[in-house]
Amino acid sequence: MARSRPSLPARLHAIVALAATLLLSLAQAGDAPAQALQPIRVSEHAWYVLGDAGMASGANQGFNSNAGFVITRDSVIVIDALGTPPLGDALLAAIRKLSSKPVKRVILTHYHADHFYGLAAFKAAGAEVWAHEAGKEYFGSGEAAARLAQRQKDLFPWVDESTRLIQADRWLSGGTRFEEGGLHFRIDILGPAHAPEDLMLTVEEDGVVFCGDILFAGRIPFVGNADSKRWLAAIDTLAGLKPKVLVTGHGRHSTDAAADLTLTRDYLLYLREQMGKAVEEMVPFEEAYARTDWSRFSKVPAFEAANRINAYGSYLTLERESLAR
Ligand SMILES: [Zn+2]
Repeated sequence: MARSRPSLPARLHAIVALAATLLLSLAQAGDAPAQALQPIRVSEHAWYVLGDAGMASGANQGFNSNAGFVITRDSVIVIDALGTPPLGDALLAAIRKLSSKPVKRVILTHYHADHFYGLAAFKAAGAEVWAHEAGKEYFGSGEAAARLAQRQKDLFPWVDESTRLIQADRWLSGGTRFEEGGLHFRIDILGPAHAPEDLMLTVEEDGVVFCGDILFAGRIPFVGNADSKRWLAAIDTLAGLKPKVLVTGHGRHSTDAAADLTLTRDYLLYLREQMGKAVEEMVPFEEAYARTDWSRFSKVPAFEAANRINAYGSYLTLERESLAR
């Protein structure tokens, strides 16, 4: 007797299962958005990769931030490590296409998930991780673990149960300088500003500054409960340096720091002004948010995703500031 063909639903089910397996294995191979990891050269020695403009998502596989690297005579110095372990691998592979020199050091501008989940690749390659000591608090407070749980859900399979959070090998207590392969590097501490442990790295010979998330180029910054007062001061410090090239944590690099810092500065000032007024007049947040005219910023990328959280964080920050007065 001839075998009967499987029913249509059974065949459909098999096809769907096969497609899912294929997709999952592709994803597990760690295919970062291939076109995106093309290093952009900004000076004789410095490069960076440019992440997607939006928030971290399944669509961009967590590639929504930048990372930089400097190829010296003897070694490679990396700035930030991107937001997933596969992206860390992809960044190292991109560096390897340009240089076979050892990656000596990774300097983290701050401990936010989108800038350091890719560290494992660099640790495995023998690099030493440096960050500012205020970052210890991130691990001590439970914030790191809570964020990891969220990323395992939102960025699976690029962040999964095997993703390890890597702490610095050297915690810096203040700014410092070092020389490496004929180049002079300077680290300045800017935090607490966007994060408690913000720092920036200057490559003196090239006039290049890697400033992390002090500048969000061309998008609404993520402010949350940041210290926006200190952040504004950090922006002024940065503008005063007049770097030839400013490489930011998000968005394209800038060759006109003063102009490009304007959007971030204006937005922070407006948040503080509007939420400050509400706190002063004891208007509840919901009401204050609804009555604020956001039209000046509502067309800027990431407004929908970030503005309300930023406004709420700023409201709380200004409440704290007013109580402290
Ligand atoms: Zn950040």
